[in-house]
Amino acid sequence: MISLAHNALYHWYAQNGRHTLPWRITTDPYSIYVSEIMLQQTQVKTVLEKFYFPFLERFPTLNDLAHADVDDVLKMWEGLGYYTRARNLHAAARQCNGILPTNANDLIKLPGIGQSTAHAISAFAYRESLPILDANVKRILHRYFAVKERNENKLWEYAYKLFDPSTPFDYNQAMMDVGATICTPKKPLCACCPFERWCQGKSSPLEYPMAKTKTQKPIRLRTIIVYQRENSYALTQRRTRFLSGLWGFYESEELADESLKYLGEVTQHYSHFTLQANVYLNKESILPEGFEWFDLDEIKKLSLSRADHKVIAQIVGDQKTYHH
Ligand code: SF4
Repeated sequence: MISLAHNALYHWYAQNGRHTLPWRITTDPYSIYVSEIMLQQTQVKTVLEKFYFPFLERFPTLNDLAHADVDDVLKMWEGLGYYTRARNLHAAARQCNGILPTNANDLIKLPGIGQSTAHAISAFAYRESLPILDANVKRILHRYFAVKERNENKLWEYAYKLFDPSTPFDYNQAMMDVGATICTPKKPLCACCPFERWCQGKSSPLEYPMAKTKTQKPIRLRTIIVYQRENSYALTQRRTRFLSGLWGFYESEELADESLKYLGEVTQHYSHFTLQANVYLNKESILPEGFEWFDLDEIKKLSLSRADHKVIAQIVGDQKTYHH
């Protein structure tokens, strides 16, 4: 039965697969590695249009990445979000001296590479016979085997059960495509699905997996103070875990002095909280410790969070005139 499902999957993939994605037509393990990390939390379209090629152009090999300054890596990652990915990529390049391990067991020892990513890199770059378990594949497995419970270990068992060890590359790529285009979260297209004959959850796919209990994202209220001296503004490089390495304006939980000029409000949604900040301009005070002066041209060369870019837009007074 499973081999029939595999045949149906490959038949579907031959006709509908996204065969021209650049990380599918390369044999360079490093390019595949970069694509897998970028795709962890970002859609294919965004990675393809804005980030994948410029990153590889700037750091053509893992060795180039290992010798790069982490600030340059963050700058190329700017706008992609989840910056820990970029820092881990850089740290991993250094840890393995610019030579990528050639199997999942060793890949998983590098920072930022979990089991599914290790399997993906190894299956795609070296044809190691391993299944992947990303969000798309998980959803298919939940439905195919009619499993409601969200249990990672159990899902790995199902991943191996459905896996075709003879063609790890095509199998995993096809699964990703079915998950991304057919077995979608809200509107699965069961009538077009290669697994339709065998899928145990097709009569009520939205029941699989069980819904996550929704928790309200907390709101962090902050005050951002833009220190200005003539045409320069004060920024500091963050050393906190969140957004570490990115440059930002002075931020605090305290209310601002009422004498400061109010510039406006900035809202930014992050995965685990929403930032809501009131932005003020301070032209009088001395520079806080750890801050440096930059003019707008210099700021453009720094890596900034989206929230700080919004602050810049407020400083300039017109978002359209500020091109970063
Ligand atoms: S038949 Fe429907 S629910 Fe089952 S795997 Fe295909 S799209 Fe998903």
